[in-house]
Amino acid sequence: EDTTVPPLRIQNLVKHFGGVTAVDEASFDVEERSLTGLIGPNGAGKSTTFDCITGVHRPDSGSIYLYDEDITGLRPYATADRGVVRTFQITRELKEMTVLENMMLAPKNQQGERLWRTILPGSRRKVSEQERELREQAWDTLELFEIDHLAEEYAGNLSGGQRKLLEMARALLTDPDVLLLDEPFAGVNPVLEEKLLERIHNLRGQGYTFLLVEHDMDLIMNNCERVIVMHQGRVIADDAPEVILEDEQVIEAYLGA
Ligand code: ADP
Ligand code: MG
Repeated sequence: EDTTVPPLRIQNLVKHFGGVTAVDEASFDVEERSLTGLIGPNGAGKSTTFDCITGVHRPDSGSIYLYDEDITGLRPYATADRGVVRTFQITRELKEMTVLENMMLAPKNQQGERLWRTILPGSRRKVSEQERELREQAWDTLELFEIDHLAEEYAGNLSGGQRKLLEMARALLTDPDVLLLDEPFAGVNPVLEEKLLERIHNLRGQGYTFLLVEHDMDLIMNNCERVIVMHQGRVIADDAPEVILEDEQVIEAYLGA
């Protein structure tokens, strides 16, 4: 890919819910291999922005580009297929499956055909061979997150933090370009949080790009090289963390919230 084109570009995004303008002409880029923070007080429009990017909501206007492809308004499976995925919570149904079963389901059910394409180079192969390759990738990914020893455990028996690791492992198994993380550290103990952050930074080195919504300001400021601030649906600041911390509008937005 052309390195001058950002993996994710949001242009003049607008989303209304009845009389509420949840996202109001928001524009920003997410640079390749970055861990970009998206912050703002409750109700700022962060989750709605994620929902528009991942196709959960269709924006009223504006555009979303993945590299130079316009992905505006694509359904969630199509968005994931193009290479943008978000972590999603392990539902009750998934809790009744093992960790490995969760992994095996991820690319097939939620995330479209992308992985199947990458492990099926042209030729028709037996399903059993696809399964075997997927299983190998699943194990590798579980190892990466150090939860391979839990492969046969029911997802419902995992701790909150371990479940977060599984959620991210599942998302990664679809081999995305861009990962959207909506508070991935909620309920994660400090040791695990540190590990998860280390994984994220390693994955950036391998070419992955992250957009992170997170309330813990210290975590954002210590780990993101760029921070986008939303307030009342608008992007009010987009800069390096040390600049964001001094920004009058940002301070006001948080004090007024
Ligand atoms: P954040 O994630 O930054 O806390 P949200 O994107 O969840 O903010 O919400 C932005 C605004 O849109 C809020 O005023 C919220 O009440 C409203 N909103 C979000 N989702 C919906 C929805 N599905 N229906 C109606 N209003 C919504
Ligand atoms: Mg939210």
